[in-house]
Amino acid sequence: MKKKIAIIGSGIAGLTLANFLYKNKNHDFMIYEKNDSLPLDEGYGIQLSANSIKILNELNFSKINSEKIYHPKGLDIYNIQNKKLCDLDLVQFNTNNEKYTTLQRSTLIEFLKDDIYNQHIRFGKRIKEVSELKGKVFIKFDDNTNDLVDYVIGADGIFSNTRTFFEKKKNAPVFKNAIAIRKTLKSKLGLAIDQSKVSLMMGKNCHLVIYPINKNEELNFVCIFRHKISHPDNINILLEKVVDQNSNLKKFFNEDFKSWPLYATPKLIPSTNNKVFYIGDAFHGFLPTLAQGAGQSIESAYELFNLIINERGDIQSIYFQKRSKRAKIVRRRSNLNFFIFHLSSKFMQKIRDFFVKFLVKRKSFINSYLGTVYKN
Ligand SMILES: Cc1cc2nc3c(=O)[nH]c(=O)nc-3n(C[C@H](O)[C@H](O)[C@H](O)COP(=O)(O)OP(=O)(O)OC[C@H]3O[C@@H](n4cnc5c(N)ncnc54)[C@H](O)[C@@H]3O)c2cc1C
Repeated sequence: MKKKIAIIGSGIAGLTLANFLYKNKNHDFMIYEKNDSLPLDEGYGIQLSANSIKILNELNFSKINSEKIYHPKGLDIYNIQNKKLCDLDLVQFNTNNEKYTTLQRSTLIEFLKDDIYNQHIRFGKRIKEVSELKGKVFIKFDDNTNDLVDYVIGADGIFSNTRTFFEKKKNAPVFKNAIAIRKTLKSKLGLAIDQSKVSLMMGKNCHLVIYPINKNEELNFVCIFRHKISHPDNINILLEKVVDQNSNLKKFFNEDFKSWPLYATPKLIPSTNNKVFYIGDAFHGFLPTLAQGAGQSIESAYELFNLIINERGDIQSIYFQKRSKRAKIVRRRSNLNFFIFHLSSKFMQKIRDFFVKFLVKRKSFINSYLGTVYKN
């Protein structure tokens, strides 16, 4: 039977689900977004591995303008002094049509918005009240409009407001004692790195990731460093600690960057209402150290879509079991990466470097550590 679905939030998770529902045509749906527009001018990068490209290809992602994306063939691992330790072949996880892809987040949003923008997104909407009515969910928004739906999908990010209306148990995101800064670089870097690959530089209490985001030689630059306060008074004092480890990095830390604290979801908790589901960061917010946040948002949307259209069994419990199993794997690896990327003792760094060099060459290890995530 035709269902009516309200998707709260137009990030990568919400837009992916909406695209599948649009293509399927069997259900009515609307995205309710709190902001007044989509962030289409935002230049920051994301990495998508084969697991999410496979799903996006069902939405014709392979037809995207190839100038706007990049397929890095490898990951080069350096210490913060720019000495190369080893490299990892990323092509091993690719198939002909599903390649490790880097791009601007806005390029992905632009692609996902195309079919649904005019008819299926309402901006400036925040839930004010929810109630049960005739076996459905009645949602009131703060502009006094409303909707009566069969399913509500919370796709409103790590600080999900949807949860506060439907869940008694809090699952507030936890600050992970780390801050990220990001910018897009448009010029030659002056670092001894191969700009066509993903470069990871591991330092004391910090790491950097640099990768191309299109064929226009633009690069995404992200530096993550440990810090106990989520909103430091003077971020430049912290950045000096990175520059102290490699003075060549000074030029990247001028005013022109964006910074934000890193949070993660402490627990994976099922929805307590069988008409309400959470996808993307609203279900599982990870540390970005496995670059899987967007990829898992896409996966979660796709899994839920398939359950909704097939309508077989207890959708809620099947979704939760499958999704939490997958999320636990990603969370464990993201947390472990976070730990090993930031070691502060010189001695521990030496041991780490030895093991990283050793393990990167072990096919069976790489297959179980990354292959299980990238080739789902
Ligand atoms: C430093 C950093 C680097 C990252 N790098 C990568 C990477 O390389 N690869 C990768 O896969 N992932 C990466 N991620 C993670 C990735 O960006 C997120 O996991 C992903 O964007 C989550 O998508 P989402 O749709 O679930 O949530 P969001 O993108 O947060 O979208 C939520 C949407 O809901 C809206 N909203 C919020 N509240 C409400 C409300 N009350 N009512 C209505 N709408 C609301 C928001 O405005 C937004 O549009 C990174 C994250 C960080 C912090």
